[in-house]
Amino acid sequence: MPDHVFGRSTGTVLPRAVRGDGCYIIDEAGRRYLDGSGGAAVSCLGHSDAEVRAALHEQLDALAFAHTGFFTTAAAEALADLLIDHAPPGLERVYLVSGGSEAVEAALKLARQYFLETGAPQRHRVIARRQSYHGNTLGALAAGGNAWRRQQFAPLLAETSHISPCYAYRDSAEGESPEEYGLRVANELEAEILRLGPETVMAFIAEPVVGATLGAVPAVPGYFRRIREICDHYGVLLILDEVMCGMGRTGHLFACAEDGIEPDMITIAKGLGAGYQPIGALLASGRIYDAIAAGSGFFQHGHTYMGHAMAAAGAHAVLSAILGRGLLPRVVTQGQRLDAALRSAFDTHPHIGDIRGRGLFLGLELVADKATKAPFEPERKLHARIKAAAFEAGLICYPMGGTIDGRRGDHVLLAPPFIISDDQIDELVDKLSRAVAVALAT
Ligand code: PMP
Repeated sequence: MPDHVFGRSTGTVLPRAVRGDGCYIIDEAGRRYLDGSGGAAVSCLGHSDAEVRAALHEQLDALAFAHTGFFTTAAAEALADLLIDHAPPGLERVYLVSGGSEAVEAALKLARQYFLETGAPQRHRVIARRQSYHGNTLGALAAGGNAWRRQQFAPLLAETSHISPCYAYRDSAEGESPEEYGLRVANELEAEILRLGPETVMAFIAEPVVGATLGAVPAVPGYFRRIREICDHYGVLLILDEVMCGMGRTGHLFACAEDGIEPDMITIAKGLGAGYQPIGALLASGRIYDAIAAGSGFFQHGHTYMGHAMAAAGAHAVLSAILGRGLLPRVVTQGQRLDAALRSAFDTHPHIGDIRGRGLFLGLELVADKATKAPFEPERKLHARIKAAAFEAGLICYPMGGTIDGRRGDHVLLAPPFIISDDQIDELVDKLSRAVAVALAT
């Protein structure tokens, strides 16, 4: 990468990607990389999808952008209609933005404004979970509970409470059933609401399946039903962040369908644009929208590119493909196949402690000792070594690691395109097995 285009690691030289072909990205030297993580759970349709490209060309020929202060567009309306037609009951309104962090910012501000307009101005506190990630803008970063990401910017972050995540592999007690464990950690929310004073709490935000900090960790059954009960009891809004796990990644268009709950808001991004366009969205309940419509009539927020016509047209084509090509059931079957292949490769592996996830959203956790679940020393940067060895072998997988909230761990996230074939699943697992072996040997 030339110096004047800088990324996360300044001075790093990366291969230049030039072309996409289904589940593969091809670089300038002609090397093919199997996209085993869809970047970061983005490319759910694979690369260079013909229908999405055609929809984008058509929109570009007609109109690329019209400011939402003056116009609506057919593309934005069609996307909003399609989302609402398939959204969990109660979610009736869509606010289109340009990515996941923007969607989370909008959710937090909408929650605040809802309480201002309904006569509860004292409600402003946010509760989230440790080891969570909700975005890198300051509001979203404040909500997130990833100590490492927050550390440098702590003086700029609004105060947020963090309770335990639902992370059964590490945190459930000896002899505790999954249900008992789920209830125990969900009840931390009630304790925190009572500690802060229920009349001051605005919202609880969580990912149904934790992505970017833990590597595809779903909550145990019953956890989110108890969370919903607690939010209802204390009048706290429940925001589900499905930026990573939403849009079909788990086999349901919205991951929370499997948890059997209806949130007050959902944030989505990544798979919504599938990488074809930068887009995110906030879905909000009719109750929230109606309160603001009946009050000031104006959500005091906005970005220049919200409701962007090209982004909306691309996302509409992506969503139509997910729904129209039978990709949700395909995520379930290919997810089971990938899960089975990972288990047969790694179940007896001495350093793979856990294989988990839902649909085509799966994670591996590496441990130094399987019996004690002791992690590897962070200085070893095992996750980064796996990423490098996999990349060298032509596989893109998403590593996570280092010290997360005082706890160490190495994780690998897999989130391949929904179109992944049986052979490509075998290729993925084969390359990953070899990368893990190489990383452990160095
Ligand atoms: N929420 C979650 C759950 C995410 O995984 C991410 C991105 N990894 C974000 C929010 C932020 O999204 P973006 O990077 O598009 O701003």
